[in-house]
Amino acid sequence: PPVLAIIGRPNVGKSTLINRILGKRVAVVQDTPGVTRDRVRYEASWNGRDFIVVDTGGWEVKVEGLDLSVAQQAEAAIEQADAVLFVVDATVGATATDEEVVKLLRASGKPVILAANKVDSQMQEADAAYLWALGLGEPYPVSALHGRASGDLLDRVMEVLPEVSQVGGRRIDRGTRRVALVGRPNVGKSSLLNRLAGEERVVVNEIAGTTRDPVDERIELDGEAWTFIDTAGIRRRVHQTTGADYYASLRTQSAIEKADIGLVLLDASEPLTEQDVRVIQQVVDAGRALVIIANKWDLVDVDRQEEFNRELERELVQLSWAQRVNLSALTGWHTNRLSKAMNAAYENWHRRISTAKLNSFLGELSAAHPHPVRGGKQPRILFATQASSCPPRFVIFTTGFLDHGYRRFIENRLRESFDFAGTPIEISVRVRE
Ligand code: GDP
Repeated sequence: PPVLAIIGRPNVGKSTLINRILGKRVAVVQDTPGVTRDRVRYEASWNGRDFIVVDTGGWEVKVEGLDLSVAQQAEAAIEQADAVLFVVDATVGATATDEEVVKLLRASGKPVILAANKVDSQMQEADAAYLWALGLGEPYPVSALHGRASGDLLDRVMEVLPEVSQVGGRRIDRGTRRVALVGRPNVGKSSLLNRLAGEERVVVNEIAGTTRDPVDERIELDGEAWTFIDTAGIRRRVHQTTGADYYASLRTQSAIEKADIGLVLLDASEPLTEQDVRVIQQVVDAGRALVIIANKWDLVDVDRQEEFNRELERELVQLSWAQRVNLSALTGWHTNRLSKAMNAAYENWHRRISTAKLNSFLGELSAAHPHPVRGGKQPRILFATQASSCPPRFVIFTTGFLDHGYRRFIENRLRESFDFAGTPIEISVRVRE
């Protein structure tokens, strides 16, 4: 289904509007300190058409001036949407932050509907009219709180939302699974790429004018086609000068963002470095599936094997779920094991657990292991749903804040019961009043 992103500054009434759109009171968000307000996706429908609503959560705006993260969050949300519902508080008017976001919206070329919220009475409609000045077309006055005119707003949204998503379904429609092969210099990326590509290298994409190198390459592994992102960046042996690190890291980030799965190469013959850990973290933070490859295994003796395993355990405590393959790009040893790990990570990244299954699982779990009592109170789990996949994201509605240990416990049990090897999973907790 097509994706509608809802963006707007904090307190303009996004959550209330989302509740209106969803027709139930589930998106109620209480700002609990320590609860990260990730982007959350909900399934919605209006007049028989299904669509996905993406709630961008709160923006971290510094009191004075703009924070970069505002633009970044808005940009990411816009990129992943088919249309954007931009919510402005009509009683406040457009702020400098709103204007910055308008620039991003225009640059994206995506359809935008401007909602002027908190227009609780007809008298206030004049406030909304000022928002014509944003240059986004007609402002739709609504009152998310009272439901005023929200039906008209949704009708308008439906007009601009395409029937078929241009973004959400892209990964699947594009046919091939996309992979970013990343790691610090000299770990063996280009050697592995050459080994995997063998003779079968097919160039799928070439951006004219920028470079004569192929940008992405399609490689078949055991009958499954994979698109390796930015292989030109891997093959071109740029010699690092000052500043090159920064660009290399941007390049890595951009490859990861275009991919479904990150293959992080490590040189097992050398001690694990901070940079190795950082690249792995980039893949996890981007919410991509992860396969860790320990390369140069031909150079690794038994002592080093043990040491390497200890290093990994120490540095990557929370990542025991990652798929791992030990191999040698040089000799080809165990390179044939890679595709199995990639496929598993990719499939688990797509996994969906039905709401019924999830709730019966959590019901049993919390009956057997209730949350500890904190300050005389014991938070209870009310309901949970998988808001999206790629990676799997769960939203749990509770009567109180769940402590960190208990969240980890839920995550571990979820991983044990359903196969999530190779994929990060996200759990957000929404406290209901
Ligand atoms: P990149 O910078 O990550 O692309 O690394 P390269 O593929 O250029 O490899 C860096 C060096 O490591 C080269 O000298 C390779 O021959 C060597 N190398 C790569 N893979 C292996 C391996 O599995 N075993 C050994 N012994 N050397 C390797």
